[in-house]
Amino acid sequence: MNNKPTSYQLSYWERESFFRGIDIAVIGSGIVGLSAALRLRELAPSARVAVLERGPLPLGASTRNAGFACYGSVSELLDDMDKQGEEAVWALVERRWRGLQRLRRRLGDERIRYEGLGGYELFRSEETELAARCAEAISRFNRQAQPITGLAETYRLANGRIGEFGLKNITQLIWNAGEGQIHTGEMAKALQEKALAAGVAIFHGLPVKALEEQPSGVEIHTDYGWSFRAGSALVATNGFARRLLPELSVQPARNQVLITAPLPQLPIRGCFHYDRGYYYFRNIDNRILLGGGRNLDEQGETTDEFGTTPLIRNALLRLLKEVVLPGREVAVDSWWSGILGVGSRKAPIIRQVSPHVVAAVRLGGMGVAIGTLVGEEGAEVVMGREGKV
Ligand SMILES: Cc1cc2nc3c(=O)[nH]c(=O)nc-3n(C[C@H](O)[C@H](O)[C@H](O)COP(=O)(O)OP(=O)(O)OC[C@H]3O[C@@H](n4cnc5c(N)ncnc54)[C@H](O)[C@@H]3O)c2cc1C
Repeated sequence: MNNKPTSYQLSYWERESFFRGIDIAVIGSGIVGLSAALRLRELAPSARVAVLERGPLPLGASTRNAGFACYGSVSELLDDMDKQGEEAVWALVERRWRGLQRLRRRLGDERIRYEGLGGYELFRSEETELAARCAEAISRFNRQAQPITGLAETYRLANGRIGEFGLKNITQLIWNAGEGQIHTGEMAKALQEKALAAGVAIFHGLPVKALEEQPSGVEIHTDYGWSFRAGSALVATNGFARRLLPELSVQPARNQVLITAPLPQLPIRGCFHYDRGYYYFRNIDNRILLGGGRNLDEQGETTDEFGTTPLIRNALLRLLKEVVLPGREVAVDSWWSGILGVGSRKAPIIRQVSPHVVAAVRLGGMGVAIGTLVGEEGAEVVMGREGKV
């Protein structure tokens, strides 16, 4: 028997019990979609809210990321300031910080295994100029970050720890005291459980093919050939947004990741940003998770297809063996990839795109930090409140 989904018709029972009278359909069950659904139930407790997810689990970034609870390393902020100006950058830092506090409050540190181990930015010997520019910015950035994080000293040089972590070919380390890390799988599971407990219906394995505006709502066409009507739709499909809403300026960007087998006496603890953030690694369950390298093949990685490539796998392995765990026998347990949604500006799109359709997409590499807020703000737009959360 061919198990591929084909077109079929809903039974009368299915149509009447599951798909009749949905007030708001949220498309995508990542951090944004589920945060939006939760907020919608808070704003409109009697509304029927359904999340439509194409995968058996979320199939994008929210269950495939690195779990950095981060809000900006020095070189990233300097780079962003060159492109977007200081004000926009600090506004984004503030949103990331606030989003992280909200995520932690909503789900609880224990549940998402939050650990405030701090974040580290690494500089190589060939990055002398960048390292000096970043070191020079530290005291200014600490003054600017203080009202946001409440920390007197967010950033600090930590070169003394290079040896302690066993890192090779690194000449400067900047510590960010306010960063932490979470267990991404537990976060996604907790969000899902919360949404179900709040009365949200979640349909997995239900790819939405198209949205059609109608005078009294939106017709939602599925890949199975049947459709149903919802009062409004919130599109939270991030890197896949243009498949439903081609007018949005969102590009998919694939990111490849590896996780090692467990390692005894692992000296690495915390989140590490390397090569201006193009690479990242952290400890988890006595293993190293390491990912990135998209800049090696910008064009090839501008895709919403999952997969890994020899070019990037080899670069990640080299980094693992030469810098992160030099001189150690290390086995890779597994590889995976996830899809980001990016744009020319580092800012999410949260807006009404047609009378009954709202989009909350383009989270870039910071959805753990801002996903909760973006979902909640998307929900506010659906409810016509437009308020900032
Ligand atoms: C490898 C990797 C590492 C990352 N590391 C970090 C990190 O350490 N810290 C951080 O803050 N951020 C990180 N990010 C970014 C972060 O994970 C994302 O910004 C965030 O998860 C985006 O959430 P989302 O809900 O908008 O999108 P997604 O999680 O991608 O959710 C979109 C959902 O929509 C579904 N969907 C798409 N099309 C359809 C359709 N037609 N019908 C039905 N469903 C559909 C998808 O299956 C998916 O589940 C990382 C991302 C990747 C890929």
